Amino acid sequence: MLSLMRMENEKESTEERTEIASLGEFGLIHRLTKDLGSDQPSTLKGVGDDAAVIHSGDQVLLVSTDMLIEGTHFDLMYSPLKHLGYKSVVVNLSDIYAMNAHPTQVTLSLGLSNRFSVEAVEELFSGVRAACEHYQVDLVGGDTTSSAKGLVISVTALGHCSPDRVSYRSGAKVGDILCVTGDLGAAYLGLQLLEREKQLFLDQPDIQPDLESQKYLVGRQLKPEARKDMIQIFEKNKVIPTSMIDVSDGLSSDLKHICFESKVGAFVEESGVPIHPDAQLMALKFKLDPITCALSGGEDYELLFTIDPKDLDKVRLMPDIYMMGEIVKAEDGIKLHTKGGNIHDIKAQGWKHF
Ligand code: ADP
Ligand code: MG
Repeated sequence: MLSLMRMENEKESTEERTEIASLGEFGLIHRLTKDLGSDQPSTLKGVGDDAAVIHSGDQVLLVSTDMLIEGTHFDLMYSPLKHLGYKSVVVNLSDIYAMNAHPTQVTLSLGLSNRFSVEAVEELFSGVRAACEHYQVDLVGGDTTSSAKGLVISVTALGHCSPDRVSYRSGAKVGDILCVTGDLGAAYLGLQLLEREKQLFLDQPDIQPDLESQKYLVGRQLKPEARKDMIQIFEKNKVIPTSMIDVSDGLSSDLKHICFESKVGAFVEESGVPIHPDAQLMALKFKLDPITCALSGGEDYELLFTIDPKDLDKVRLMPDIYMMGEIVKAEDGIKLHTKGGNIHDIKAQGWKHF
């Protein structure tokens, strides 16, 4: 077996080599999965949305998985283990809410190096449990294994929903209104702050970081919440978003996913993009444009969705929802109308891990 694998690897080394970075995360996923078919009639939606959708009795089952890797997604110098455990669950639940469904169970897989004590793993696990309790989901299994170096956390979330309530990325129609919950860019600025404090600490270890005054931004980065409340509000008001995604990679990337899957374009008003006052101020301190942080930052875990104009009056009355644009024809592109009156193309510049 080993020698066969070696032969395969050698074969690869003599053939043309494409760097993963040249495709990027989404390009790679597309290249790997574009020819995937499905043998099972119960697979209603496979790759390409926040969660897979699987027929299950008179309901659908939703399945989503996300992995957090030390050094790529978190830095243990400033991520408390309990928060990290909490966040690992929340980012997965967010993908189920993004389908307009409620998560019900999670599994947790851990790759641990001998750098971690039992007490440290217990601390991480206490955060996982706190998130499960808060969102009322059951932890029903997982896997625990050793990792040569960093910490690896992989969570799979399951959810249920009636089939007619599912919001796919692909359902946006020309004329639909583009909305977002909460505010954008704060998690990214929280990360910039933590990175800056880390550097200061490394340079002068006797100086304690002062992050007390930036609780909002730091909290948005270290302990995000998923928008369970919004799914309940949609249910109560009998609104089903025509399309939806959670903002994990940044507004520009995530809007691009909706537009790509729905075969439409979008027109966004900069003045309609919600940005928290703390994020506005911090962006300026870092000499960044606040709208750039909202477009490219990521990790906000807010919901980006479209609604049919017939639901406008209902949505107007819902709390914490901001209407920031409109769905247009694909050939009109994805554009930002700036406060200064210019119109720019929105380019996807979300997280690039490769
Ligand atoms: P999200 O940001 O919502 O977690 P991703 O960008 O991670 O979504 O993934 C986009 C889509 O690609 C999802 O449907 C996901 O299930 C699928 N996907 C990602 N990586 C793989 C992979 N290695 N194999 C199969 N499907 C994948
Ligand atoms: Mg998602």
